[in-house]
Amino acid sequence: MTAAKGLIALVVEDDDFQRRTVARMLRSLGAPEVREARDGKQALASMQGAAPADLVVCDLDMPEMDGMEFIRHLGQANSAASIIICSAQDSALLNSVDKMARAYGVRLLGVIEKPVTLQGLEDLIKMHEASKPRPLNASAGAPGFSLEEILHGVREKQFEPHFQPKVALATRKVLGAEALARWRHPQHGLVAPYAFIAQLEQSGKIDELTLLMLEKSALACRAWRERGMDLVVSVNLSLVSLADTMVADRITDTVRSAGFDPRYMILEITETAAMTEVAPALENLARLRMRGFGLSVDDYGTGFSSLRQLTRVPFSELKIDQSFVTGCAANPSSRAIVESSIEMARRLELKSVAEGVETQAEWDVLQATGCDMAQGYFIAKPMQEDAFVSFCDAQSRSRQSLD
Ligand code: C2E
Ligand code: MG
Ligand code: MG
Repeated sequence: MTAAKGLIALVVEDDDFQRRTVARMLRSLGAPEVREARDGKQALASMQGAAPADLVVCDLDMPEMDGMEFIRHLGQANSAASIIICSAQDSALLNSVDKMARAYGVRLLGVIEKPVTLQGLEDLIKMHEASKPRPLNASAGAPGFSLEEILHGVREKQFEPHFQPKVALATRKVLGAEALARWRHPQHGLVAPYAFIAQLEQSGKIDELTLLMLEKSALACRAWRERGMDLVVSVNLSLVSLADTMVADRITDTVRSAGFDPRYMILEITETAAMTEVAPALENLARLRMRGFGLSVDDYGTGFSSLRQLTRVPFSELKIDQSFVTGCAANPSSRAIVESSIEMARRLELKSVAEGVETQAEWDVLQATGCDMAQGYFIAKPMQEDAFVSFCDAQSRSRQSLD
């Protein structure tokens, strides 16, 4: 039992008995120092001046300052601590807190339901080491990349799209691909989006990456179509970009300069809490739709995407967030959300896409409900362009042999 060996731990919990129990468990798991706090306020105070805690085990419902607010403060302080949330709240709430913590850039190891068990705690703490080389997560304050380094990489065009197939649930045919940004760093190898997206967004520089992704994705999809593959490509668009009324023109120019027709491109947009400037966003989206781009609501169901925006933005596609899709076969509340999202998409005449499909059982639920498309590890992980083309070729051969 050495999962917590060498870790300075902090337990934030208002119930004395539970707090002491968790503290005892942490000691038995090898933590050399375990601090205790009754609520977020005390916890923050205990963090002033002292050596920072490596691991924070935190309750949600506490007097004075609750777990949510405490997590926000940790995020704003760029804390490098790993967080475990333990709570008796229902899974839908825990799910949203999980999303919220990630959105604040906090390193969340996971959520355990109360009562906390030694095994449950140990399993999550083991992930502390596994998730350690998050040095690449710039927002975590760990030795991430500076904005200058990221922008240098963008200007050197070191970023490239990896493509994850979107397939028809009815036929298994590949209909398109989502382009996901990867940084081919000259020293660090392939770097995932969490290490650069938030930083680019916060500094107002995300457009530089977006335009590069649009250009490379348009060129790739153009080549596929020239080979006779009837595919569309999806690119992620940050909502912050939409505050500038010129962005629709820049996007259109970039795509057309690559010799690509916007009708074969879908822009995926996630609504965030930061969406304050609604009017320019709507202007841009209307203009993009008018020019033929498809518009997709990404991460649908994650709280920030409101029903209202579905009716005011000319969306053509709805992507159900993976937090509901993964596990929907076993979890009745996820399944209810997935099924009603599909039904709503149908009534609003939007294509439905389930992302994060990981198992046959999930595939079956989606197929039975009449979801249009699936994306996820069950089908394929995001791949480099040549691997994606080979994947499509192999799929079409195996479908032909079935016909
Ligand atoms: P997203 O747009 O929701 O993309 C889906 C994410 O889920 C991708 O993570 C993908 O690799 C992952 N994923 C796909 N299938 C599965 C599955 O079956 N199970 C699990 N657990 N995960 C799956 P990735 O590539 O790390 O991207 C993360 C996020 O970063 C994206 O979420 C998107 O919001 C953002 N992002 C990526 N590329 C760009 C970009 O070029 N521009 C902008 N603005 N954001 C981007
Ligand atoms: Mg997306
Ligand atoms: Mg998504």
